[in-house]
Amino acid sequence: MVRSLGSSLVVGLAVLLSACGGDEKTARDHRPVVLVGFDGMEWRVAAPLIRAGRMPHLKALIERGSAGYLYTEKPALSPVCWTSIATGMRKGEHGIENFLDPTGNPYTSSQRRTKALWNIASDYGLQTLCVGWWVTWPAEEIAGFMVAPYSTAGQNAFNWKGSVRKDLPDQTWPRALFDELVPIVEDVRASDRLKTVASSYFAIPASIPLGDAEKKLVAQTLWSVEADEIYLRVVQAMQRREGVKPDLTMAYFGCTDVVSHRFWRYMEPGAFKYAIPAEHVAEFKDAIAKSYEQADRILGEVLAGAPADANVIVCSDHGFHAEFLDQPHPEGLSGHHLDGPPGIVVMAGPDVAPGFGKDAILEGRGSIEDAGFIYDVAPVVLTLLGVPTGRDMQSYDGGPLAKRMLQKALREASRGYNVRSHDEGFRKAATSGPRVDASVVEDANRALQQLGYLGIDPGDTDERTRPPTKKPVVDPPKDPAAGQNDPKGKNEKE
Ligand SMILES: [Zn+2]
Repeated sequence: MVRSLGSSLVVGLAVLLSACGGDEKTARDHRPVVLVGFDGMEWRVAAPLIRAGRMPHLKALIERGSAGYLYTEKPALSPVCWTSIATGMRKGEHGIENFLDPTGNPYTSSQRRTKALWNIASDYGLQTLCVGWWVTWPAEEIAGFMVAPYSTAGQNAFNWKGSVRKDLPDQTWPRALFDELVPIVEDVRASDRLKTVASSYFAIPASIPLGDAEKKLVAQTLWSVEADEIYLRVVQAMQRREGVKPDLTMAYFGCTDVVSHRFWRYMEPGAFKYAIPAEHVAEFKDAIAKSYEQADRILGEVLAGAPADANVIVCSDHGFHAEFLDQPHPEGLSGHHLDGPPGIVVMAGPDVAPGFGKDAILEGRGSIEDAGFIYDVAPVVLTLLGVPTGRDMQSYDGGPLAKRMLQKALREASRGYNVRSHDEGFRKAATSGPRVDASVVEDANRALQQLGYLGIDPGDTDERTRPPTKKPVVDPPKDPAAGQNDPKGKNEKE
């Protein structure tokens, strides 16, 4: 009698709490989700490689899943786009508006105004493993594990992608996790290891004498080769670690973007109006393709450690094309994406409707289909995780991506499954990030200079000689299809 009175009291309390909007948030039944991001991956490069059998892991996903274009922001800037992918919000809402904030420092996670997938998943008691994602430093306290990259302001001219820093606090959650990363970083930085990976992009040492400009392009790329390899190793170590059973895995890799900025003219020399030495074309023409092959290897290794029943999403934040066609760019860049060419999205798994967009990519028949927008990714991930979407997200029902790529049964079960906003009660955004100690900048510069052991001069990377400047944003060319990039027609003038 007493016991039953007690339990009905407990039930009554629970009902009361949930009626009051208490902390009774639980996710519906779901399968694990793996979201892998490759910066700047472009179908015009990837599709022919897939058909040639050079990206077997992405091909296998498309064969059992769906694929298409993922439309993006203009101008397409990595910190902005990847934060939109993680939040389902536009930059004006999530607040990460560029590489550097108005004070000239890199944007940090504390400046984000809206919750990201890892925060929302935590609210619903789900475990996230997030590695290498843009603007996640300082690592937030989440239910799960976060390894956050950092890129110093002075690294601007060299390569913007972040990496693991020896002297920087708060790169991991839990904080103590950092000690486990140190041996991984040291192993990757051991010369043989990096050399082996780097040699898969271009010959090291180069098979022809290179000018200073070309040496610099190679050195700048190696920084990202190293960062990607470190983050892959971290993901693999975490997947094997006791207690790690993520509902959501998010991992970001940047090399496809870095290589495409620097080596496009060697892949497509005919697009440029200036002469490119034939021996340089011969040396580097396959560098971009090789970075895509590496991305595919990374994808295969991440998926090998993931549960077999996971729903998998692979996406990029934007596509790519030849740029600076008339004369050589002073930094040697020859590919870009500021005008927001659409990126890629591939989905596969038990809750994914298969077949969409498949033939165009696998058989080269017809044109590649439009799948959705970067803002659709977060609500689609939440739907797959059995978590309600937020009605304040750009595509609160998952937009075109959900319609085209989620199984009908899941879409029907999720109809109307949303909340007004996930951001109520979220901590207030900081106006500027935490100060980074000078030793961190020195360590970053040392790490860059160490690339010298490969016989490559990375150039001037000294923070003190480079006052932080806001990265210039070039006006995108006028695009008649601009409306396509703007699902709600509220694109700001940029
Ligand atoms: Zn880029």
